[in-house]
Amino acid sequence: SEAWVPQLNFDNSFGRLPASFYTRLAPTPLPAPYLVCASPETAALLGIDIEALADTETARSFAEYFAGNRPLPGSDSLAAVYSGHQFGVWAGQLGDGRAHLLGGVRMPDGIFELQLKGAGETPYSRRADGRAVLRSSIREFLCSEAMAALGIPTTRALCVVGSNYPVRRETMETAAVVTRVAPSFVRFGSFEHWNSLDRDAEVKQLADYVIDNFRPALRDSDKPYEALLTDVAQRTGIMIAHWQAVGFMHGVMNTDNMSILGLTLDYGPFGFMEAFDAAHICNHSDDRGRYAFHQQPRIGHWNLLALTHAMRSLVGPLEEARDIIDKAYVGAFESHFMQLIRAKLGFNTEQPGDEEFFSETFNLLQAQHLDYTSFFRALSHLSGNARDARLDAGLRDQFLDRESGDAWLQQWRERLALEASDDGARQARMLATNPKYILRNWLAEVAIREARGGDFSEVARLLDCLRKPFDEQPHYQSYAALPPDWAAGLEVSCSS
Ligand code: AMP
Ligand code: MG
Ligand code: MG
Repeated sequence: SEAWVPQLNFDNSFGRLPASFYTRLAPTPLPAPYLVCASPETAALLGIDIEALADTETARSFAEYFAGNRPLPGSDSLAAVYSGHQFGVWAGQLGDGRAHLLGGVRMPDGIFELQLKGAGETPYSRRADGRAVLRSSIREFLCSEAMAALGIPTTRALCVVGSNYPVRRETMETAAVVTRVAPSFVRFGSFEHWNSLDRDAEVKQLADYVIDNFRPALRDSDKPYEALLTDVAQRTGIMIAHWQAVGFMHGVMNTDNMSILGLTLDYGPFGFMEAFDAAHICNHSDDRGRYAFHQQPRIGHWNLLALTHAMRSLVGPLEEARDIIDKAYVGAFESHFMQLIRAKLGFNTEQPGDEEFFSETFNLLQAQHLDYTSFFRALSHLSGNARDARLDAGLRDQFLDRESGDAWLQQWRERLALEASDDGARQARMLATNPKYILRNWLAEVAIREARGGDFSEVARLLDCLRKPFDEQPHYQSYAALPPDWAAGLEVSCSS
């Protein structure tokens, strides 16, 4: 039969920027690539027929394209340059060291750029190999799609393609390529790059590019660049409010990993909060805890100041620009965070004393090491009106100290009573806001272990579950379980 050729309507806006913004080059082929997994939702965004991948020949052809072995018709492969601050220190030039941007695909819902991550060396690879391992590619794939299903702004992942090509990390692993999808992969560090070289013209070109292609409404503003900063600050605030509310830890919030569109970007040593600890550090390479869970909101602000500094040639006095950022970021973060926590607790209204109750709730989580996701999920099922020994057990069984847990529960019911909401509706709202399923490290670990042995079905099942994180899905009940004993020592680091 005819080899399958993806029909994608490419429109490569980034490649129309001046050549200084990138290096045009083709991916480096991988031997005998095979399809590991694909996302139905992201395929649909691109108009790709995922059903067709059930055919072995089609899947093989698909893998050739998304390994970078064959150019997708209409694509224009390039690696972009950027710089950035890593762990708070200026790192100079970085860039797409292992990512090839293939261009944007024009769809009715907008333009989605495709990027192959792990498709070989580029001029920005520095001393590294341009590759990504299967382990980290599966993690990025699953988490991108899980975050999207949770309603959190994020880049998407179309698929992972693997190869038996060996890649050295702490041990020998094998190569993989993850196809990422987003309207744009421009980072805070893309702006810092040109500012650090005193190239004001390029800073302006990049800002104009972002506004014209992704935020055209900002053109109507008297001060479009201040409006862009405000937009980035608000979106970053909203994104991080979602992270804190769901218990997501990015792990490497370097400025080169911060999306100018306010999307969660560059999944590496990320984690989801399990036994609650506000100071938890999910990245084993982050010895000083710069990116600990409770630091994330502050780091978002720090990163925005770095962006403001990088855009200083475009905006008025730096002091004023900083004020814009402070107001826009802090305002967006705080209002969204409060709104999300209120929703997690089932509250519809604002009441005096809410802030104290929220801190008491986090104190309870911290003191009793409660599993963050299970706690809110179990709470969602309770009656808000009255104690019910049988129903309450679902939550009470999680308390280490029953007495203080019960006292908190009574306060929760008293607070709920203030709004006289319909209890069935309240319960339904909570179940639609407090996920049952998150990408726990131990779940990813099991799927990766199986995948390394050549069985990709566990990755597919986990994706299928995480696509509907708020649904009960009894057949996936075991994916809601707390980490088993063997998972206690699991560590993730920058090695990927
Ligand atoms: P990260 O910490 O993953 O955000 O990466 C920081 C920088 O290192 C970026 O410029 C990446 O493109 C680059 N990089 C990371 N891993 C590799 C690799 N295996 N090969 C080439 N470049 C890499
Ligand atoms: Mg990065
Ligand atoms: Mg990375």
